[in-house]
Amino acid sequence: MKTRVGFGFDVHRLVEGRELWLGGIRIDHSLGLLGHSDADVLIHALCDALLGAANMRDIGFHFPDTAGKYKGIDSKILLRKTVELVRGKGYSIGNADITVCAERPKLNPHIPAMQQCLAECMAIDPDDISIKATTTERLGFTGREEGISAYAVVLIEKP
Ligand code: MG
Repeated sequence: MKTRVGFGFDVHRLVEGRELWLGGIRIDHSLGLLGHSDADVLIHALCDALLGAANMRDIGFHFPDTAGKYKGIDSKILLRKTVELVRGKGYSIGNADITVCAERPKLNPHIPAMQQCLAECMAIDPDDISIKATTTERLGFTGREEGISAYAVVLIEKP
């Protein structure tokens, strides 16, 4: 069995007039994340971790933000395509562990729905997806609510 680990990181800016999408679900908030896609920072970090584990470059390489076809795209579509790429190289997905840094809104009530949503996209067990939320104690850009960041680690394996 070949076992590999991957790491991903992403940041998006918080602005007025955008919906907030995180972990594949829409969350009620006064601000939303700005980006070419729906700017789901959690999914983007997860995609980069998956691609990194398989040594398949990064999300911008596969889904360039200059391409019109990805404008406003639901990041769940990018996640499904990323999982296809990784499985296409012969790997199965073990587990993912994700941390989101946001001062507001409180994310803990939404975590079970995110786990369920991501598990369906990735065709794995929700128990294999850990999502953790933290503030940064009002420090830095996340603390000032200028943006949200996310970190992800995944394990993949093939016989
Ligand atoms: Mg991104």
